[in-house]
Amino acid sequence: MLKIYNLLEMITMITAIRGMKDILPPETGRWQVVEQTARELFALYGYQEIRLPLLERTELFARSIGQDTDIVAKEMYTFLDRHGESLTLRPEATAQVVRAVIENRLLKGAGVKKYYTLGPMFRYERPQKGRYRQFHQINCEALGSDAPELDAEVILMLLALLKRLGLGQVRLLINSLGCPACQKDFRTQLSSYLHSKSGWCPDCQRRRDTNPLRVLDCKSQHCRELLAAAPVMRDFLCPDCHTHYSRVKALLPSQSFEEHPRLVRGLDYYTRTTFEVVAPGLGAQDAIAGGGRYNGLIKDLGGPDLPGLGFAIGQERLMEILPSEVGANHPSLVFLAALSPEAREQAFVLLQEMRQAGFAADMDFDDRSLKAQMSLAHRRGATFVVIMGEQELASGEVVLRDMISSRQQTIPQQQLLTVLAQQLRL
Ligand code: AMP
Repeated sequence: MLKIYNLLEMITMITAIRGMKDILPPETGRWQVVEQTARELFALYGYQEIRLPLLERTELFARSIGQDTDIVAKEMYTFLDRHGESLTLRPEATAQVVRAVIENRLLKGAGVKKYYTLGPMFRYERPQKGRYRQFHQINCEALGSDAPELDAEVILMLLALLKRLGLGQVRLLINSLGCPACQKDFRTQLSSYLHSKSGWCPDCQRRRDTNPLRVLDCKSQHCRELLAAAPVMRDFLCPDCHTHYSRVKALLPSQSFEEHPRLVRGLDYYTRTTFEVVAPGLGAQDAIAGGGRYNGLIKDLGGPDLPGLGFAIGQERLMEILPSEVGANHPSLVFLAALSPEAREQAFVLLQEMRQAGFAADMDFDDRSLKAQMSLAHRRGATFVVIMGEQELASGEVVLRDMISSRQQTIPQQQLLTVLAQQLRL
């Protein structure tokens, strides 16, 4: 009988889509701690939250991220809506933030504008450990200044967040991609290097002509080997970009970063400073955050000619390496065990009073024995159980059981909240 039931269940069960996972308790508690820590820290640096739609016009991403990037060429969830308009589930947030600040005229007035946003992103990648089709990012964007101090501030804030979360052991890789003027020479040199070698993967054979910088980002081991002697951007920086990069490095503690001259990242809009944070112990997908400057993006998307930079943290990867003690603290639970329908009625009232007074409290609504209720309380990790039976009801008292020491005391119901506050040091 059981077997038939299991079989039926298997046939009718609808599962989540490949590469999209449910995030369940107690893991959700850890996510909340990360998000709360981020919110608190970002506020110290003057960032405000911005909440954006999950769907955008496809053109937004095609124009900003770049036609020849993996994201736009093969990873976007794009579809036509009922009116035939091409829409895309956002694969990243920067283009969206820029679209939103232009559209809502948030760039008006002097000073840097700082925004953060949290939420899911969608990319049709091959799912594996640390790589999902729906994943979550924490994004920060600082718009309106090209000062190297802002680059340093953004990077230092990212490191400060990771440190607050107990992740001091990460590596920060940085590079400068220069401006379009210095990239021009570099592209020419890189392109002739790429044509001087053979054996590139089919994607890189195409990219050699369309967008040679993308070849630097290729994941194929063979292409990486072929790139070993390729020219590096650092040698092509114009004097302004060189000074900018030197200043950013000077503003960061010297032991906090490593220069990575081939770092390009997977999106076309980056200029000047680019960076990535990698963490040990994550295997192939070891980048937990990445970002950089995008000085031409705001203008390209129809806004004023203002510079900007930002970063995105991949939350799933962050959670993988988050110390186990983060999010392990839960408020002490007080469980009410009622032994009769009348007692349950009173317990229900008391339950609401306890929550109003700030105690995490719960009870069982079904008619279970005291033993069953005690074992439920134990399974829920209750610190105290308040027992209410006929006798207690008649005398206006309750039995308070300390689940850790197993000590019990009978106290007047009116004193319960005061006693609990003392015991739990609220
Ligand atoms: P990107 O938007 O590509 O610069 O990525 C920023 C960060 O998002 C990366 O460093 C990863 O931590 C995370 N990330 C990107 N793609 C995925 C994915 N498919 N699954 C999980 N995390 C991802």
